[in-house]
Amino acid sequence: MQNSHFKYPDTKAYDFVVDSLKRRGVTIDDLANLVYKMQAEFIPELTNDDCRNAVIDVMHKREFLNNAMVGLELDRLTETGQVAEPLASIIRNDAGVFGVDEALALQIAELYGTIGVTNFGYLDRVKSGIIKEFDTDGDHVNTFIDDLLGAIVAAACGKLAHQDA
Ligand code: MG
Repeated sequence: MQNSHFKYPDTKAYDFVVDSLKRRGVTIDDLANLVYKMQAEFIPELTNDDCRNAVIDVMHKREFLNNAMVGLELDRLTETGQVAEPLASIIRNDAGVFGVDEALALQIAELYGTIGVTNFGYLDRVKSGIIKEFDTDGDHVNTFIDDLLGAIVAAACGKLAHQDA
C-alpha cells in the first residue's frame, strides 16, 4: 500500500549510491574524467570542475537515485547469492537478451534528451575508462553497474551540452 506520508530520503539515497560506487572502486572524479574526454571537443572552454559539477547534479536527481539503487543492489544481492533462480544466473552471466540493465540505465540518460541517449549508446559500444574495467572483470557481478556508470557519464554530457547551447 502506498504511504502518502512517506518522505523520499534524498540525502540517504545519494549517500547510499556514492558509498556503493566507492565500495566498487568508482569515484566521482573517475566519472568526471570520462565526461571531460567525451565533451571537451565540443565545448572548448570546458573545465574539470564543470564536469565534476555536472556528474554531481545528475547524481542528485531522484530519477537517477531510484534506478541506481535498484541496479546496484541487484548486482550485490546476486553476487552474495540472495537472488532466486533463474534470475540469479541470468544476471550473473549478463545474458545479452536480458536488457533490464540497459533499460534502467537508458531511463537515466533520457533525462537529458537525445544527447544523453546517443552518448549512452556510444559508451555502451566503446566501454571506455572505468566502464571497461567492469566490463572485463570476470570475478564480480557487474551487470548493472557498467550501464549505470555509462548513464551517469552520458547524462552529464547531455547536461553540459544543453548548458552550452
Ligand atoms: Mg550491463
